[in-house]
Amino acid sequence: MSLTVEKIFVRNLLMDCLFCKIASKEIPSEIISEDEKFVVFKDINPKAPIHFLIIPKIHLGPISALGAEDKEIISGLILKAKEVAKKMDISESGYRLIFNIGRDAGMEVDHLHLHLLAGKPLKFEF
Ligand code: 5GP
Ligand code: ZN
Repeated sequence: MSLTVEKIFVRNLLMDCLFCKIASKEIPSEIISEDEKFVVFKDINPKAPIHFLIIPKIHLGPISALGAEDKEIISGLILKAKEVAKKMDISESGYRLIFNIGRDAGMEVDHLHLHLLAGKPLKFEF
């Protein structure tokens, strides 16, 4: 799938989506890094000392709405998280990647996003 910046802009304009607006800078956020396809920014309500969200610039729904045609973006998100972790020097100390999907996971935003949490030993209990 080849998407120009213009196509992404037009498609995202049609979506009334918080993360589309963050990707297009219509809504400000603390951006950590950005490339042609992805934006990494700080979560507004951090659950750990480091809590970033990695999103594709193009609007895609949650994992449950995706198919094989989206595999490049899904793998790209994970590889972007790995790249950010390396830059933040947390590859060795560790980090957690989370996709929240649907109500029971507490998903709030319907734009594909990967949480990256780190900066302290993270509990794993529910
Ligand atoms: P979800 O629960 O859908 O997996 O995660 C959505 C995340 O987006 C939450 O952790 C929430 O704190 C974060 N969030 C919601 N609104 C904003 C916002 O306006 N700016 C930023 N930076 N993060 C937001
Ligand atoms: Zn969106």
